[in-house]
Order: sequence, then structure tokens, then C-alpha cells
Amino acid sequence: MSRGNSTGRVSVVLEAVEPGVTRVRLSSWSGRFVGYEVSAYIVDGVLIDTGFPRVASDLLDAIEGMKVRGAIVTHWHEDHAGNAAMLADRGFPLVMHASCESTLRARPAIRPYRRVVWGRPDRLVAPLRAFDPAPLELVPLPGHTVDHTGVWDARRRILVSGDLYLGVKVRVAHRSESPGRLVASLRAAAALEPRLLLDAHRGPVTDAASKLRAKAKWLEETRREIMSRSEAGDTPRAIARRVLGRELLVGILSAGEYSALAFVDAVLREGAATSRPPLVRTSVAPSDR
Ligand SMILES: [Zn+2]
Repeated sequence: MSRGNSTGRVSVVLEAVEPGVTRVRLSSWSGRFVGYEVSAYIVDGVLIDTGFPRVASDLLDAIEGMKVRGAIVTHWHEDHAGNAAMLADRGFPLVMHASCESTLRARPAIRPYRRVVWGRPDRLVAPLRAFDPAPLELVPLPGHTVDHTGVWDARRRILVSGDLYLGVKVRVAHRSESPGRLVASLRAAAALEPRLLLDAHRGPVTDAASKLRAKAKWLEETRREIMSRSEAGDTPRAIARRVLGRELLVGILSAGEYSALAFVDAVLREGAATSRPPLVRTSVAPSDR
């Protein structure tokens, strides 16, 4: 089944994934132009993610009549949390990580290309009205962002995974990402043994547990290679080129915000923060010599 509300500006298309599970595909003309779209999902009457700001009124039209009882936001990025403020203003029940809520209340600036593709979210002002999403469970899966949260449907063995997966070999990242925590989250998600991932950008992904493990393995090996080349004295730019290859279109369009070089920086920054502190040289007093 597919029903849509598609204008030249934004597009909202509802697709049945399986009984009780609907994919809400959202795109803007500028996003389609560069090949970006994002999906929210409705599982048992719970909306998971709210899309980007430009799609606000079309999203409301599309979910009308779907008997949505509340929404969960996977993380603060504008293509996931973009309509959280609008839904909160309307008294719509919302659940999100505390850090996601404080970020939306602070309303950080975003780079121009993200404003062009998605729009900048309004500041979250209204208090949150909580609801119980049971039988769905929230699973903390940090790494992509600190607030990143998955939604687990144990009966169906479906994990609504936000931006956890995106593909096995994703060769770009944001500098603020935590690749080490992402590896741990991928392993934790795989340990749930999901049969299906509902990925925000890739759509439904089958054979989910093995793909999560494959990504964890690739990411761990890539981290190790980046760190050992850095210890050998290679520059971040040389490492990015050697380990991750040429910059992709997204690296260029985002002016390096999501790039191979930012991936290397994220690994090295995290590695420096978590490695053992250097040995403190004991000063020796002259009289001891
Ligand atoms: Zn994201």
C-alpha cells in the first residue's frame, strides 16, 4: 500500500511494511536533488521520528487517521526531530532522551546546506507530555550522537534504528561522532537478534543481526587501521585518502562536515581521549643523582 501527499516542494508517502508497521517516506525537492530522503515509521500507533521541518503540515495530514498515540524521537538531528516542537505545541505525547530534549530547547545553529535540504527546526518550548510506548522499548544506542536511541519491538523482532546502521561501510562521519561507542551500540543491537531493521535512510533492512555485526567488524578494523597509521606519523588527510578513499559528494556538499576526513578526526579524537595518559616523567632532584 502506498498513499502519498506529494507536491513539488515536499513529498510524504506512506508504505505498509507489514501489518501494524508503516514507513513514512519524507523528502524535499532539494533533498531529492542530492539523493537524500528520510523515513519515519509508525509501529503499533507510535510514530518514530518526526521528519524535517519543511514537511510539517504534510506530515500532519499524512498521519491523520492513523491513530497515532505518541511519538518517539531517535535523536536531535533535524531530519528526525524536525517537527518535535510543532507536535509538542499541539499537545502530542513525545518521548526522547533527556539530552535530545535539552538540545532541542537550546536550538543549535546548523550549517546552511542542512537548512537548504531539511530546514531549521523551531525551538522546543512546550513541556513534553510523556506516554508509555509499551510494548515498544527504548534502547540507548549512542555513537552517531550521544542521545541516539533505538526502538525495539520484541514481538516482531524489529529494531527501528534511526541512524545506527545506514550501511555496512559508511566512509563518512561527523567529527562529533563516537566511532568506538557506535561499535558497542552495533554489537548491543545485534545481540537483540533483530530480523528487520527500520533504517531512517535505507528503509527496511533484512538479515539485520548479521549486517549489524558486519558493520561493527568493518568499523572496528577501520578504527584500528586509522589509529595505527596515525601512530606511524601519517597525517589525517593522508589516512583518510588511504583508508577511506576519495571524498564522496556528501563530503563536498557539506563542506567537509560529513566526510572521510571528519571520520578520521572522530576516530583520532576519541582514541586520544580514551587512551592511557602518558607516563608522567618523575623529576629527579640534583642531590639524588
Ligand atoms: Zn542523524
